[in-house]
Formats: sequence, structure tokens, C-alpha cells
Amino acid sequence: MFRQAKRRTAGRRNFDTKNVIYQSSKLAALYTSRLSFYDIPPLEEITLEEFESWAIDRLKVLIEIESCTARSKSFKEIEQIIKPVVNKYLPLSPLIEGKNDAQVLQERKKDHYSHYILRLVFCRTDELRKKFVKNEMLLFKIRYGNMQLSEKSQFIELHNDTLDWNYIGAEEKTELFEDLFNATSASIRTQMMLDNEKSTITGEQLRQHILRNESFIKLPFEKIPNLVGSRSILVRQGYGYIPTSFQLNLLVIEVQENLSKNLVKTFQAIPRLDEDDRLVPLLQALSKNFSSVQYDSNFGDESASDINATSITSNKIMSHYPLCAKVLQKSLVANHHLRFQGRQQLSLFLKGIGLNVDEALRFWSTQFTSGNTGISLEKFNKEYKYNIRHSYGLEGARINYKPWDCATILSKPKPNKSESHGCPYRDLKLEVLVDNLKDMGITEQSDLNVIIDDVNKNSYTVACTRVFELTHKKQLKPNENLHINHPNLYFDRSRQLEKAQS
Ligand code: SF4
Repeated sequence: MFRQAKRRTAGRRNFDTKNVIYQSSKLAALYTSRLSFYDIPPLEEITLEEFESWAIDRLKVLIEIESCTARSKSFKEIEQIIKPVVNKYLPLSPLIEGKNDAQVLQERKKDHYSHYILRLVFCRTDELRKKFVKNEMLLFKIRYGNMQLSEKSQFIELHNDTLDWNYIGAEEKTELFEDLFNATSASIRTQMMLDNEKSTITGEQLRQHILRNESFIKLPFEKIPNLVGSRSILVRQGYGYIPTSFQLNLLVIEVQENLSKNLVKTFQAIPRLDEDDRLVPLLQALSKNFSSVQYDSNFGDESASDINATSITSNKIMSHYPLCAKVLQKSLVANHHLRFQGRQQLSLFLKGIGLNVDEALRFWSTQFTSGNTGISLEKFNKEYKYNIRHSYGLEGARINYKPWDCATILSKPKPNKSESHGCPYRDLKLEVLVDNLKDMGITEQSDLNVIIDDVNKNSYTVACTRVFELTHKKQLKPNENLHINHPNLYFDRSRQLEKAQS
């Protein structure tokens, strides 16, 4: 599954199809539908590049979903936010016979493989498994809701062996229609109002909708105790009749149970994979958490011509800083000094926003030598210049270091009293954090409360994302969404929004 050129290593097999139960008929049908039940593992080889990039693309979608749920967005809102993200990273186009067959096959293959790769990534702890299942189920619901009625029926039909659902025929529907209508109309009305955001639907509109659009499945009542117990469906002669509106929930329960069980099985199989020196580092990097995808812009973009040693202390530029960078730079300007970790974090952030090495040296030397700290220019050149040049890849191993993302910042030791590095949402005392938020213009108590709530749940990047949304409320388009997982992403997006407005 993973390699372009096969390599045989003593005692290790790359891929052995003999031991895999290869259900060829099912596999052929696998990409027939846009949506997958993910019940057949992928068996073809892919390259390591595909392995990584497909997993990252799916992870980007799941991170957005995770961010939305962490900010208590409704399903409707999540759907609107996620659709463009899915279209960008994990599209599943409908098949237009003879026109887009190859593209459709490739999209479905990517979806299938990326799902299985992330199973490997997120099967390792109970917490990760739960998060993965929750986000995958939301993705499944969004995609299912996006399909045509005919595609939905085709999907159910394809998986009828597993689901064992029987649709009633037109004759039975007509015969039972009054009972079906009486039993289900209230729930269908609620669902329709939620879906269409209509405040009212007349009785006749509802009757016509059920007659034309609802198809009912018939299941033994013991399979659906919740629906029977809530008296929201028709039960007759030991069978429950479930309308289309409820079928998605049934389907999700089925897929969810299946996925949860299989994640545990995957976890049990992981030791056999742990000897693979190509995949383990990739999987470990991906499994750090749901914020592990790095923001990667054109760090050090020369086009940022207004970024220089003087401008970066101006309100105009600093208004785009995330709180971590604000706190660091304010501390530097106030104390004319920053300890090592703080210098690293701020220096790389500034490099990322476009401060070139000459301007960086001008900025740092001015700040260090202009206070009462007793640091002369000579001392600065002797003790600090090397570090700055080093972070620009001009000294030592000459590595062009990238600005730290939030996960890196949060993985460093917390700052002590004389240090200012880290993430303020984690490291500042609550009252100091609130003062800082007020300085950023967040004064409504209800807004402050939700941010504090995120902080108390250790959801620091969610708190930061919420602050970004509140401070850019006027510029953000409705339902425009972005999860902050990198200080430079915060800065770049903030600048872009300002430019788009002018
Ligand atoms: Fe900085 Fe990230 Fe913390 Fe925001 S969440 S303040 S960008 S470290």
C-alpha cells in the first residue's frame, strides 16, 4: 500500500496480500458510491508522498471540524464552514459518466486511503479514537446530506448486507400512509424546519412532502429501541417504519460502531507496523494532536516591504500580532532584554512576518542597548548577535529555521517569572490575560467568559481563534472560518483581511 518501488528487507515484508481477506467483488464496488462505509481496507500501493499528503489533507478537514465543535457551532454552521474546506482538500465529485471518471476515481481513492491512514494515526489512545470517530461522523453526515436522494438509496443498497434495511414498496406506503403520517409528521416537520430554517409549514405541504420525498424502511422493532421508545415512528406487527429523515441517524450509529471497533483492532495490529522505519516517524508526527498540521506560508516574504526595525513596534503592525507575540515584544521594549526562549520565539516570529536579518539586528541591538541594563553594542555583538544570525541560517549548521507553531510553543517548558515566552492563554494569570484581552478590544463579559472557558479546558488555540474572530468580526465574511494553530497564520490572515478591506 505504501511504496512506489518495492524493497525487501530481511525478516520484513512490504505487503503480503496472501494474508488479507481480499473481497474482490466488494472492492470493485468500493468506489461506486461517493460515500464510503470504509469496510474494506485499501490494498493497492501508494507512494510515501501520497501517504503523507493525503493524510495531512484529511487532517486539515478534521481539524476544522474539531475547531468548530470546540466553539460550540451548530451542525448547520459547521456544515457551511466545512463544505469549502472539504471541497478544497477532500472533494468527492458526483460521477458524470464518460466525463470525469478518472478524477472521480482518484478523489474516492484519496478519501478511502486517507481515512485508513488516519486510523493508524488516531487509534493509539482512547481519547484520540473518540475524537477521530466524532469528527469522522460529522464529516460523514455533512457528505451524506450533500448527496442526491438517488445516491443515498444507491449507497444504502450497496451496503444492504451490513445494514439489512428493507425499503417498503409504493403499495405498502399507500396502504399505511395515514398511519405513517400520523406517527411521523411531527418529527418530520421539526426536521424540515431545522433543515430549511422555515418557521412554518402547512399541514398540506407536510403531507405532500411525506408522500413524495419520504421513503420508509422497515426494521424489527428490537433493533431500534430508542425510536420505538420515543414514539416517533409507526410500529406495526413487530416492525418499525423509519422515514428518510431518521435514516441518517441510524446509518451514523452503524458506521460509528463499525469504526470504533475497527480502531481498536488497528491499535492491536500496530506493533507489527512499529518496525517500519518509513511510516512510524510520519505517523508519530501526525498523531501529536489535532493541531499538528503546520501552517506553512512564504516565511520571510520579501514582499513585506513595510516590515522593518522601526515599523514592527508601531500599533499599525502590532495590531496584527497574536497575543504571544504582543506579550513578548512588549516585554522586550519595556525591559530591554528577553531570556533565551523568548528571544528564539520572537525572533523567528519576526523573521516569519518578513523582518530581514539586517533589520532584525538593528531592532534587537537598539532594544538591548537603549535601557539601563548595561548592555553596550560591543556586548550585544559578542553575546547576542550570533543567535540572531543563527536563526536566519547564517551561522552554525546554517539551518533556515521556521517560526514556531502553537504546538511547538506549547511543548516548551512554561516560562518562569523572569521569562515571557510560551502561549499567554496557558501561561498568563487569568486576571492578567483578561486585562490583555480588554486591551485588544474584547470587553463584553460574555465574550471574555467563553474565552476563559476555553482556557480552563486547556483549548488554547481555540481561545486564540475565538479572539481572532472577535477582533476581526467586521472583516470576516459570514461563516468564514480559520483555526489558529500558528502565530504567523494569525498575523498573515489579519494583514490579508486589512488589505482586502482597503
Ligand atoms: Fe500564540 Fe498560538 Fe498561543 Fe495564539 S494559541 S497566543 S498563536 S501560541
